[in-house]
Amino acid sequence: MPALLGAASADEYSALLHEVVDTIADRFRTVAAPSSGPDGRRLHDLVDAVELDTAGIGCRDALREADRLYAGHTVWFHHPAYTAHLNCPVAVPAVAAEAMLAAINTSVDTYDQSLVATFMERRLIDWTAGRIGLAGGDGVFTSGGTQSNLQGLFLARERALRDLDGSRRANLPRLRLLAGAAGHFSVARAALLLGLDEDAVITVDGDVDGRLCPQALAQEMARREAAGDVVMAVAATAGTTDRGLIDPLAPIARLCAERGVWLHVDAAYGGGLLLSPTRRHLLDGIEHADSVTVDFHKTFFQPVSSSAVLVRDPADLAAVAWHADYLNPAAEAGGDDAEPNQVDKSLQTTRRFDALKLWTTLRALGPERLGEMVDAVCDLAASARELLQADADFTVLGRSDLSTVLFRFHPAGIDAASADRLVPLIRRVLLDSGRAMVARTTVEGTPWLKLTLLNPDSTLDDLTAVLDLVRATGRGLLAGSDLAAQTPAQVPISASAPEPAGMAGSAGARR
Ligand SMILES: *Cc1c(COP(=O)(O)O)cnc(C)c1O
Repeated sequence: MPALLGAASADEYSALLHEVVDTIADRFRTVAAPSSGPDGRRLHDLVDAVELDTAGIGCRDALREADRLYAGHTVWFHHPAYTAHLNCPVAVPAVAAEAMLAAINTSVDTYDQSLVATFMERRLIDWTAGRIGLAGGDGVFTSGGTQSNLQGLFLARERALRDLDGSRRANLPRLRLLAGAAGHFSVARAALLLGLDEDAVITVDGDVDGRLCPQALAQEMARREAAGDVVMAVAATAGTTDRGLIDPLAPIARLCAERGVWLHVDAAYGGGLLLSPTRRHLLDGIEHADSVTVDFHKTFFQPVSSSAVLVRDPADLAAVAWHADYLNPAAEAGGDDAEPNQVDKSLQTTRRFDALKLWTTLRALGPERLGEMVDAVCDLAASARELLQADADFTVLGRSDLSTVLFRFHPAGIDAASADRLVPLIRRVLLDSGRAMVARTTVEGTPWLKLTLLNPDSTLDDLTAVLDLVRATGRGLLAGSDLAAQTPAQVPISASAPEPAGMAGSAGARR
């Protein structure tokens, strides 16, 4: 059969995709745990064992092999015992749209490569900007929050350099970026990529909960001004990755407006609240941002990748435009060069038509339904928190505006240092067992386990089962060994998580 998708291979393509889809659908029907509990060494060996330099084995066999290798040993984010990171179960229409855009292979860079896709993406940018309160603004889809943050801060840097007297070279070292301590690491890395001074990123103190504190921000801004520095931007976070905390955007925006400072709001996680019927107010103030990051592949239930950066002033976006004679030559007045080229707004050139996934999701489900799904995961996290608070075996940290819960196994009779050591051990034993996945993090020196809940179909019973596994694992570790001597790497790979009552039933019966 022909190797490439075209008229001659259309039948083969159709048959192959049906087979792949049926196989994966079957896995979704039967998967009983978030992973198969693989031994890392074995996975490495399985991958190494595939010979890449042989004659082709044909489409069907190649896909079957990939199913065994990849789908057989992957992490299933839809499983209710997957509670680790910001990975969402994906909307069915979006997955179907993914097949469509992959086959057609549109690149949304120049208009002549994308035609209607350009207008569909622009429409969704307008829609998102409107939801934020940036009507008349602009933006572009990106590969993720990391990329959106980089672009937002790049635009901020360009605005700051444009507004300063003197050369770029002289002014660049004066630029400062103020951010909360819990901001995403991509903000600091963007500063590095933007060539800012190594001291350019200044962490502003948080309030008791860890949100960026407006008073501390005002003081820092004044200090920077007195020192002759230029605050290029304030990066606020609407939904910190660890704790789901939303910085007080309205007072932060007022401070930025008073001093003419660019406000970037990283709503990679919290962006879903734009659609929430009950929590939209938590984003109040976001409408004053100069740039906003929204990750559709988190709280809009989109397959990776799908993100956008939105800007208040479309003119700011021009800073990324670059003209190449073969691609998007500078428009000549009245000429036919004045085509709506998305490449003029993006740091990428060839770029996926990810917008189609959000488009079909909105059309299929409607924004209201999506907003209810976001509310459901926030409600679930609140219930899980209450459950943990009422349980003497666990302690819980603070609160969340979104859907994370930080907790640790700390039963009466063990000291804090032992509880500290249990955190990575419990996570590792659960990971190796494949039965449940929780994350871990550290807040002000204290390690915590973390639930990140993005599955609106999960129930409190599902979470109870996960917490019972955590408890049983912790008890097992306490009973079995000299904790002080163990590091996660030393936990025997074979140490499987105990079987709690109800877990298998809960997951099995639901799927
Ligand atoms: C996830 C996240 C990012 C990074 O987004 P990617 O899509 O993973 O690149 C940035 N900021 C916050 C607050 C996030 O939660």
